[in-house]
Amino acid sequence: MSSYPHLLEPLDLGHVVLPNRVIMGSMHTGLEDRLSDLPKLAAYFAERARGGVGLMVTGGYAPNRTGWLTPFGSTLVNRRQARKHRLLTDAVHAEGSRIALQILHAGRYSYHPFSVSASALKAPINPFKPRALSDRGVRKQIEAYVDCAALAREAGYDGVEIMGSEGYFINQFLSERTNKRTDRWGGSPENRRRLAVEIVRRTRERVGDDFLIIYRLSMADLVEGGQTWDDVVALGKEIEAAGASIINTGIGWHEARVPTIVTSVPRAAFTSVTAAFKPHVKIPVVTSNRINLPQVAEEVLARGDADLVSMARPFLADPEWVLKATTDRADEINVCIACNQACLDHVFAKKKASCMVNPRAARETELQLLPTRRTKSIAVVGAGPAGLAAAVTAAERGHHVELFEADAEIGGQFGIAQQIPGKEEFAETIRYYRRRLELTGVKLHLGRRAGVDDLAGFDEIVLATGVVPRVPAIPGIDHPKVLSYVEVVRERQPVGDTVAVIGAGGIGVDVSEFLTTTSPDLAAWKAEWGVGDPTLLRGALAVPRPEPSLRKVYLLQRKAGKIGAGLGKTTGWVHRAALKNKQVEQLRGVNYERIDDEGLHVTFGPKREKPRVLAVDTVVVCAGQEPVRDLADALRATGRSVHLIGGADVAAELDAKRAIEQATRLALAL
Ligand code: NAP
Ligand code: SF4
Repeated sequence: MSSYPHLLEPLDLGHVVLPNRVIMGSMHTGLEDRLSDLPKLAAYFAERARGGVGLMVTGGYAPNRTGWLTPFGSTLVNRRQARKHRLLTDAVHAEGSRIALQILHAGRYSYHPFSVSASALKAPINPFKPRALSDRGVRKQIEAYVDCAALAREAGYDGVEIMGSEGYFINQFLSERTNKRTDRWGGSPENRRRLAVEIVRRTRERVGDDFLIIYRLSMADLVEGGQTWDDVVALGKEIEAAGASIINTGIGWHEARVPTIVTSVPRAAFTSVTAAFKPHVKIPVVTSNRINLPQVAEEVLARGDADLVSMARPFLADPEWVLKATTDRADEINVCIACNQACLDHVFAKKKASCMVNPRAARETELQLLPTRRTKSIAVVGAGPAGLAAAVTAAERGHHVELFEADAEIGGQFGIAQQIPGKEEFAETIRYYRRRLELTGVKLHLGRRAGVDDLAGFDEIVLATGVVPRVPAIPGIDHPKVLSYVEVVRERQPVGDTVAVIGAGGIGVDVSEFLTTTSPDLAAWKAEWGVGDPTLLRGALAVPRPEPSLRKVYLLQRKAGKIGAGLGKTTGWVHRAALKNKQVEQLRGVNYERIDDEGLHVTFGPKREKPRVLAVDTVVVCAGQEPVRDLADALRATGRSVHLIGGADVAAELDAKRAIEQATRLALAL
């Protein structure tokens, strides 16, 4: 008897039977944009197909150039492209899986000057104002969708997903917020729905019955002027009648100010929306957002919230997610921790997506895990993310690996991160590595600070000795009210009611959240961000009611620029909004004059003006880190060569994404 009977139950869709209830949702990797990258994209999907997922959806392809997300972005508009896609669809079918092509017309989210929409209204997240389409123009867009679906069929895809949510083109017609038309494509809810329904109806006519049409339906717009619940239900019924095979859940427009996918969003936070929608249609309904573990997916399905779950990022993190669930090895899953650092943040920076915890994602042809030809003995020092990644990757290739860690636990900086409210899931990565150490037979020495003598006799020495917090040269820095972030977060030393945080990088922001916030349950999280009952509130928007802050916190930096400017594009705004919710006072352009019994004395600007005393009980220092390289220096002095990775290599830009990737690349080369 499986632990996940609902998750692993096949689903009969008439002309096709899906082997389980998991869909790999659409995730743009950047490999879609050039036909020359198709072999890489094929390898990426083939690896996930081998991992047991029954149905996958590609990243978005525009049905024409006006629908481009970015200039020269991915399109499927001609037969030459369709022929090339055979490489991808054949690779997926050879592994026994299925794949649908997502058709995504960006409308006013198109990042170019030729964008079109229902009305000429600029999106708040895009500098380009769209042109309002004429009646003929709307009909041409519908033709483009239908032609694109026909080409997808010709290319060997098993279906298409029509992207009708997240505030893209179709969504822009559905909502009064963006559709001010008075012709047959606007004015009344029926008219606003016409575009979506026509696209599905005409597509079904063209592609025949034995082809999947998934429609991604925005069930909670999470923006002012979004659709009412009656609109959502009526649309669902009409989409079903028009010939859709499956309805997928979309939550929130890209311009919404409610987080929907970052780590701090509780798991399965939005499946109740799908559950409210599901009784209104007969075709299978998919739910999504923040489902990353088989147990969570099983609970959602067992509750009857949906017929299927869709996950996108979890398949970047672990292509074998389904296989591991099927063989009761969930403890081996490399869980997506929803950090967005190597996936969505890359996409928004126009870089190719990968995954922080799995740097091989979307680089399968480049980073191949091949057995070593010559087995070596390798010592790895430091069991933070870099050391762990190096140790298990080298061991997996057949090397004999010993891992030395001075602490009693593995995890390094992730051990600190997991203490931050909303970042508890970083513990999953530590759990994953702990299990992988066991499986790959790495010999782990905990509580052992390796010295030069311990490392004698190894063929290779990898030093991932990490960092120590920087101690800035501020008069009074040794005052008893001063603590480092490690003392506060990991050692839980007592902190007063009024606190100054020195340094507003990623850790200063995290520490400010740690000092002001307790981890909310789902109800408190929804109240904090203003997520209401979609069946009662238009767009599911309620008035935000954040919990009061636990303390008065000042967050300071010397730079004059925006606080948290270095945070990720897709997560930084959430952190900044969370600080605002807790009334954290942010001070920029600060000079730290001294710390004494009165508190922290500061002035502002190059001329050291406006002296101010922050009468705080505690000062927490988050002023970056210094690399720990004593062992490297000592080994080199004895003539040994070493490989330095992670924060011990570059502490100035210490981040786990770089550390894990550097470690993995090194281990693949040893
Ligand atoms: P960081 O991002 O380098 O920030 C350190 C901050 O301390 C800087 O903002 C700097 O700002 C200040 N500072 C530096 N030297 C100082 C000095 N001598 N005196 C006073 N202030 C000084 O380092 P971090 O916050 O420790 O983060 C470490 C790494 O982890 C970063 O790569 C970060 O991106 C990553 N991280 C990311 C997140 C996230 O994305 N949410 C969370 C945690 C960590 P001023 O010079 O302007 O004062
Ligand atoms: Fe998940 Fe982070 Fe990997 Fe993206 S980079 S897939 S959010 S773990």
